[in-house]
Amino acid sequence: MEKNERRGMRRNKRPSKPKICRFCESKVEYIDFKDAETLKRFQTEKGKIMPRRVTGTCLQHQKMLAIAVKRARIISLVF
Ligand SMILES: [Zn+2]
Repeated sequence: MEKNERRGMRRNKRPSKPKICRFCESKVEYIDFKDAETLKRFQTEKGKIMPRRVTGTCLQHQKMLAIAVKRARIISLVF
């Protein structure tokens, strides 16, 4: 018997980071573009929308978020 069980080793940089969509968690069906506080939470300091791999938002909500942010930009709520 040899100890050959080291094959499946993976380097996980941040194993404790949760990947749950915040909108799904609170059962949001529509993201209001007037809700600047929520939108800002998903933006960088420069006003870019954070990518899904960072926030963990699901595709459905990420699309909604992008639309909401773009609308908010028009009325100068967010950058
Ligand atoms: Zn979601």
